[in-house]
Amino acid sequence: MTESLSAIRINQTGYAESLPVQVAVLSAEPVNVTDQSGNTVKSVNPGELPFDEASGDNVKVVDLGILPAGEYTVSVGSECRQITVKKDPWQEVTNALIKGLYFQRCGCELEEKYAGIYKHPACHTAPALEWDNKEVEKTVIGGWHDAGDYGKYVGPGAVTVAHMLYAYLLCPKGCSEELNIPESGNGGPDILNEARYELEWMLKMQREDGAFYHKLTKAQFAPFIMPQDDKEREYLMPVSHTATAAACACLSLASRVYKEFDNEFAGRMLEASLSAYGWLDSNPDFIPFVNPEGVRTGMYGDKSVTDELFWASCELFASTGEEKFRSAAESYYSDDMKIWSYGWADVSGLGAICCLFEIGEKGGDILYKGLKDKFTESCGKIAEISAASGYGTALPADAYTWGSILPIMGNAMSLIMYEILTGDERYRSAALLQWNYALGLNALDISFVTGFGERRVMNIHHRPSGSDGITEPVPGLISGGPNNRITFPQTKEKLEGVPAAKSFLDELPSADTNEIAIYWNSPAIFAGAFFSAVSKA
Ligand SMILES: [Zn+2]
Repeated sequence: MTESLSAIRINQTGYAESLPVQVAVLSAEPVNVTDQSGNTVKSVNPGELPFDEASGDNVKVVDLGILPAGEYTVSVGSECRQITVKKDPWQEVTNALIKGLYFQRCGCELEEKYAGIYKHPACHTAPALEWDNKEVEKTVIGGWHDAGDYGKYVGPGAVTVAHMLYAYLLCPKGCSEELNIPESGNGGPDILNEARYELEWMLKMQREDGAFYHKLTKAQFAPFIMPQDDKEREYLMPVSHTATAAACACLSLASRVYKEFDNEFAGRMLEASLSAYGWLDSNPDFIPFVNPEGVRTGMYGDKSVTDELFWASCELFASTGEEKFRSAAESYYSDDMKIWSYGWADVSGLGAICCLFEIGEKGGDILYKGLKDKFTESCGKIAEISAASGYGTALPADAYTWGSILPIMGNAMSLIMYEILTGDERYRSAALLQWNYALGLNALDISFVTGFGERRVMNIHHRPSGSDGITEPVPGLISGGPNNRITFPQTKEKLEGVPAAKSFLDELPSADTNEIAIYWNSPAIFAGAFFSAVSKA
């Protein structure tokens, strides 16, 4: 990044009148806020600017406090930026992040009345073959395209749906609006309608013996063509322990959430979940998934299934109340589990959410009391990481890897859940800094959400956005963000010597920094749902 960026970093989508206005400044001069009449309503002296290791900047977060609704100019020296403060500023972007998943739908036409200029005919509707036994042909249509590619993967899908369902359970007021999708107006909230599109597909990915195919993809990634033009054969790749356990957990959770809307659907999901658990019981020797020879689509390999088994046991205990699931969850749980981790590789945090909010004291000393203590302690550590960062970002300088948006949004989730769990608002401001990060308060002065912000990502690694001939990318998708750990050679070359939090290219080929993924949208949905709910109150 050689361009000269503003000395003031803001949430480019605006601020809430009921929450503190946070900005980051790269100048030690006083920060002045003036209203539309030119009156100074606030002046804050930032003091000395500490060096921020992750970005290489001397930068400080300045809390401008609560400002009444209105338009303001924030200025530092000769530089200024406009901000808007209002009630409920983030429902639109939260809605867009949910609808971003609608745009990932596979196997159906995206009609103009829902998709606008991003409409396209149905894709990937041909029958698939089992990779291991190419005599077996199955028609498995549906689900979401996973990321920038057109593959569909069970484990990542399960995690995405779980983030959305917990967002709905814990912050319903911030994520229940209509989204103009085909199911809108059917009596259920659209966040659940959208998640059901993936759940129905997931059910089709189960083999008769209870196991789940790991993924439904072609042998190779498609070139940058529209999904309807991607006609090569899709395969049901071999079953895996991790996909089966993640689906088991997700379907059990979903069976509770959808019960009040569709009892039959809920029943089917619980049955599928129990059948998956049965397969896991009778196949106790964990075999990590590896791509079969000749297959080069996303592997989503995972060294451990213990965290998935923990999550699955928690969710089945929550759904059935059967002691065997509680004791199994306890046996899988260990003190060194990363219970603040919510991504596809380590789902321990999803088991923890289930223990904290769904099971509660019925979990007993280990799964409730002990886990809760450990969770609250980890939230303290997350807040410390945020406080040590010049931009308030809850990610250490050495942790900017592929999809750094995930741990940052995941840490927002933890801090938010601390508040929901305890009623104590001590980490709200740190959580808000993560949400603001996603929308522009960062070292790059970029909003990572397509369609939102004056300086927003434009060239995401996303096949439809790269091949539809439309300048603006498909809206409501979040970029993976800076990465200096696992990079392509061409990225490394272009970003040689660039600090971690700036290791980012808004360039289409840079999947390593600018891809999108369904399971990055979903933790952002969680954060957006919470702050939308809070800013409506
Ligand atoms: Zn498709």
